[in-house]
Amino acid sequence: DTTRVDALELVVLAGDGIGPEITAATTEVVDAALSAVGVAWHPVTHTIGFEALNASGSTMPADVMDAARRTDGVLLGPVSHLDYPPTAQGGVNPSGLLRKSLDLYANIRPARTVAALHSPIGKEFDLVIVRENTEGFYADRTMFAGSGEFMPTEDLALAVRKVTRQGSERIVRRAFELARTRRSKVTAVHKANVLRLSDGLFLEAARAVRADFPDVEYEELLVDAVAALLIRRPEQFDVVVTTNMFGDILSDEATELSGSIGLAASLNVGHDHAVAQAQHGSAPDIAGMGIANPASLIGSAAMLLEWLGGRRDDARLVDAGGRIRGAVDAAVACADTRTRDLGGDATTAGFTDAVVAHVVADE
Ligand code: ATP
Ligand code: MG
Repeated sequence: DTTRVDALELVVLAGDGIGPEITAATTEVVDAALSAVGVAWHPVTHTIGFEALNASGSTMPADVMDAARRTDGVLLGPVSHLDYPPTAQGGVNPSGLLRKSLDLYANIRPARTVAALHSPIGKEFDLVIVRENTEGFYADRTMFAGSGEFMPTEDLALAVRKVTRQGSERIVRRAFELARTRRSKVTAVHKANVLRLSDGLFLEAARAVRADFPDVEYEELLVDAVAALLIRRPEQFDVVVTTNMFGDILSDEATELSGSIGLAASLNVGHDHAVAQAQHGSAPDIAGMGIANPASLIGSAAMLLEWLGGRRDDARLVDAGGRIRGAVDAAVACADTRTRDLGGDATTAGFTDAVVAHVVADE
């Protein structure tokens, strides 16, 4: 039964806050794009976050983890971190658990301006931050009771930063491979003047990998300089590769400069698994109001489809991803279909309808 083998399965996890609204919008757009390119698919929905906590005692139940491990790809809605109970009482971070269990070592975070949309700095740019996703200050450092922080006395708190040669080499390799499909430039971002050992090792690994990519331009910059350069000359960046926390912070800056965090797509990816996830959180302040911008998760889904297209060697999936990207740009470019974060007054549903119309129109 070839139809069954070919059909794509995506696990859809709505999450908290605006999660249900933006995941519903995203599956609608994915459905339109996949039917336009002739790929059969079906979503498998599971509950995570507060709803799962109430129903089964964990924000990320074990059967949901199993489903995520077995499926072709995951669409992950945002989860609220603030009000969860401690881990022992079921309050785990689904995103962190997925990253760790599926070894999603790369977090690919694009940020680019859309010409018709006024960017806060009036400059056009198109860059991708490749953020290491499993180490740094956010690593699971079991030597300190599962946490990277500890307090030797009640007046002293310490944090440990984990950098490995292997972890650095694989994230940098991913960045170079991505750069080859773009403008062939990699910027390694570090703070090795202060963090001599950890960022020293990161740079050593980066230089070793660089030798395999003589065709790609390479530079190294301090993280504080990059924070300023993103505002002064964002167009100079193509692929930016960095450790976990620097990547987390710089990507928020970059997407805000592109117009809105509501546009911020991302893909968590390893060798065998990928999870599409918006860069922002659950936005509890606008949850349930029908005004969230779903472009972030829709764009993340496009990245997932493109990754699956490469993995399955199926050009239709790459085409579907490209269509979605173009359709989001078109909806963002038109003042009438912009959501509130972009200065418009379209609802989530209004924006989504526009994206679907563009996906279908792009024959
Ligand atoms: P969390 O605890 O889940 O991280 P948060 O309070 O940090 O939630 P974020 O989701 O990080 O909230 O959002 C920060 C701000 O950006 C909020 O004002 C939110 O409304 C806004 N925002 C985030 N995502 C979107 C979106 N998709 N559309 C519109 N506004 C958004
Ligand atoms: Mg947040």
